[in-house]
Parts: sequence; C-alpha cells; structure tokens
Amino acid sequence: MVDVVRRFETGETAVTALGGVSLDFDAGTFTAIMGPSGSGKSTLLHCAAGIDRVDAGEVWFADLNLARLSRTKLAELRRDRTGFVFQAYNLIPTLTAQQNVELPVRLAGQVPDPVEVADALARVGLADHAGRLATQLSGGQQQRVAIARALFSRPQVLFADEPTGALDIRTSRQVLTLLSATVSQAGMAVIMVTHDPVAAAQAERVVFLADGRVVDEMVAPTAEKVSARMTTLEDDVDARQ
Ligand code: ADP
Ligand code: MG
Repeated sequence: MVDVVRRFETGETAVTALGGVSLDFDAGTFTAIMGPSGSGKSTLLHCAAGIDRVDAGEVWFADLNLARLSRTKLAELRRDRTGFVFQAYNLIPTLTAQQNVELPVRLAGQVPDPVEVADALARVGLADHAGRLATQLSGGQQQRVAIARALFSRPQVLFADEPTGALDIRTSRQVLTLLSATVSQAGMAVIMVTHDPVAAAQAERVVFLADGRVVDEMVAPTAEKVSARMTTLEDDVDARQ
C-alpha cells in the first residue's frame, strides 16, 4: 500500500484513521502490527484486504490496483487470494466445524472437495471435531476452525486481527504456533494485528502504528524489545492527550 489515507466522518467529527501509510508485505513473510487502541490497526488490515475502500493512496495486490477492480473482481480476489481471521472467530453457530470451513466455497457456488475439507481440519488438529457445532467447541477450537476456513482456499495473503485476543495464554500460544507453522510451509504473507508482545515476537517484522501513521519498524523482534517499544509509544500518545 502506498500513501493510504482513510477518514471516517461521524456527524460533526472526522477521524483520520490512516494518515498516509506505505507498507509492503512480501510472500513468505510474517509481519505483526502493533499500536495503541484506535491507532488504525484494524482499518489498515481492512484497507489492505480490500474489505474497506481508501480515500487517497493506492492498495496493490501483486500487480493489481484494488481501486481499479470491478466489484466482482475484487470479491473474487478476496475470496480466492486472501484469508481473514477475526478476534471474534465469526463462525456460524448453527453450522458444524466442517460446514463453517466449507461455507465460503459454497457461497461462491462451488462444491468443496470433502478430502480437502477433512485435510484442512486435520491441519489445525481438529480432524475428530468435523461434525461438532461451532457452539460445542472451545474458544481455541473455534479459532482453529476459523483459521482452517481462512486457509482453505490457499490464499496468498492471510490477515489476522487480534486472532488470540479472546483466548487464554496457553491456547493463544497454540494458535500462534499453528499460524506461524502454516506460514512457513505455505509461503504466504501473514499480517497479524496483536497486543501481545510474545505473539508479535513470532513475526519477523513488527510495524508500530500511532495515530494512523507508521512510527517505527522492528526486525528480528523479541518480546522484551517489543514490550519496551509499546510502553514508550503509549507514553507518547498519553503525553499528547
Ligand atoms: P485499532 O484497530 O488500532 O484499535 P481502528 O482502525 O479500529 O483502530 O480505528 C482507528 C480510528 O478510526 C479510531 O479513532 C476509530 O474510532 C475510527 N474508526 C474506525 N472504523 C470506523 C468507522 N467505521 N466509523 C467511524 N470511525 C471509525
Ligand atoms: Mg482493532
């Protein structure tokens, strides 16, 4: 993305959620996005994934400028080439694990290969839970179903917005290990928003946002360094308020 600006107007007030952000995400890399609450992290993911439009600047996916795509082409690109994992899992509670994984493919009017569905669930360690309703699964299991669903179309880019935010520490470590293992096997780009310095340290690069701008980047992060940088960032933000 190049010089991306996204503003929101609600009644009288306007908020600049992204104030000119330029970032590249290469295939086979794992990037963590961190920043204080309201710094624009979710907006950044939504714009990069083509879920939200931008007010200025450009978002490129390989050699495609998202703003130039028709609605149909954009929807196809999102479905076939990107995956999105949300903090709140976003599973359909009345469907089974298997049906949740299959849903995007079915919505696209295709019939999923049952072997591939079983394989996707096996890769997240849920081979035995295919027939369970989403509501019968623990939080960690639900997030693993959501990851299986996001990875099912073998996307080139996987976006995750605080994927471990609702999980306890042990379960979030398992989900993270799963995410980073999948990345290194599949050669996709992963972009993960997180509040957790330990989670961010799994990435090879951490991008720090504040007030809708990239204020720092760290390569080869450690949890200690990330944590220290976040503390100074939050102090800076407090000092300006
Ligand atoms: P973060 O994910 O870092 O907490 P967000 O990207 O959600 O931050 O939000 C950045 C800023 O944009 C915040 O001030 C937020 O209130 C505002 N914002 C985000 N989405 C909307 C929206 N749909 N309508 C109005 N304001 C929004
Ligand atoms: Mg957010």
